[in-house]
Amino acid sequence: MRSKGAFVTVLVTGGNRGIGRAVAEAFLADGASVAVTHRGGPLPDGVFGVKCDVTSKTEVDAAFDVVEAELGPIDVLVANAGITDSTVITRMTEAQFVSVVDTNLTGAWRCARRAASGMVRRRTGRMIFISSVVGMYGSAGLANYAASKAGLIGLARSLARELGSRGVTANVVAPGYVNTDMTAALPAQYGKQYREAIPLRRFAQPEEIASAVVWLAGADYVTGAVIPVDGGLGMGH
Ligand code: NDP
Repeated sequence: MRSKGAFVTVLVTGGNRGIGRAVAEAFLADGASVAVTHRGGPLPDGVFGVKCDVTSKTEVDAAFDVVEAELGPIDVLVANAGITDSTVITRMTEAQFVSVVDTNLTGAWRCARRAASGMVRRRTGRMIFISSVVGMYGSAGLANYAASKAGLIGLARSLARELGSRGVTANVVAPGYVNTDMTAALPAQYGKQYREAIPLRRFAQPEEIASAVVWLAGADYVTGAVIPVDGGLGMGH
């Protein structure tokens, strides 16, 4: 499924900033019709925006209804919205664990579930989940986040098996550290430490993650894959 000239419709969750915004802009540049969910703009020019908190099934379902009414059936879902709330296990409250999993994993599942019926009916669809190198590598102080990101891999691979016979693919992009608001919050000494562990010695730009996502949307024979875009940090995992 190529977007250029094919009138593909893409929905990106959390498309108002960071990686989601870069993904939305990359699909726009590729000729797709692009909708993004947000909890408050500003949005990139040319995208259709719909307010949605992915922790609410009602809001997710309503957002899909609005996008489908405006742009038509959704061909490509990019489940990108995510948060961190880091602390060591002995200090982490159940609420901190549950809210990160609810946003990052259950939120993606809510979107995938809503997207699946239309994709199955039309015998075509692309689901792309934004995980993290941390989902495979682990990270001290990020047990909630790492668990949610590892969960996305199981989710995508199960959907790949479940929906493959209906022409629907499900894949994962696993970024390393990316220059966004999420990493801007890291204390300076951690930034230096992390860079030294990355073979390419730098954080990614959001556009470098976006190009992998756009490629996956056009990769008709790839499903159940985890594509690392991490400067070599995870060495292919
Ligand atoms: P940002 O913090 O820059 O943006 C996060 C996006 O998710 C925002 O649009 C935010 O909306 C949205 N969001 C958060 N919670 C919800 C919610 N409950 N409902 C709807 N939208 C929500 O993060 P990044 O761009 O860096 O991260 C994007 C994705 O990439 C995340 O899943 C993250 O885990 C993943 N990732 C990021 C890495 C990095 O180094 N930056 C590395 C690996 C993975 P709002 O503006 O309203 O808060």
